[in-house]
Amino acid sequence: MKLLRAEFHGSPEVPCVKCDRRERGLAWGDFCSQCLKERSGRASRLASRISRPVVLLMGLYLAWKIPVTPGARVYAIIAVVGTYALLWKIVHTIAMEFLPR
Ligand SMILES: [Zn+2]
Repeated sequence: MKLLRAEFHGSPEVPCVKCDRRERGLAWGDFCSQCLKERSGRASRLASRISRPVVLLMGLYLAWKIPVTPGARVYAIIAVVGTYALLWKIVHTIAMEFLPR
């Protein structure tokens, strides 16, 4: 019984789904820490490539449309920075899920 339990639950080292490197505490079908880091770097580059032009267009639109008062400028800057952070995070999360191996 103890052997059976070890077989089903106690496998301490599981192979990475990409590089077959065994790592302790990994879930089946998961990436190892090195592959995860590399994947996060790729997702980060993609997120930056998508977020920068979108935020640039938004900034240009805001600079053209909002009234020229200091308060409005401050809110426009906050909106641009917030949009960049939010969009970057969304694209990064989606890319981490759907990037090819
Ligand atoms: Zn790996």
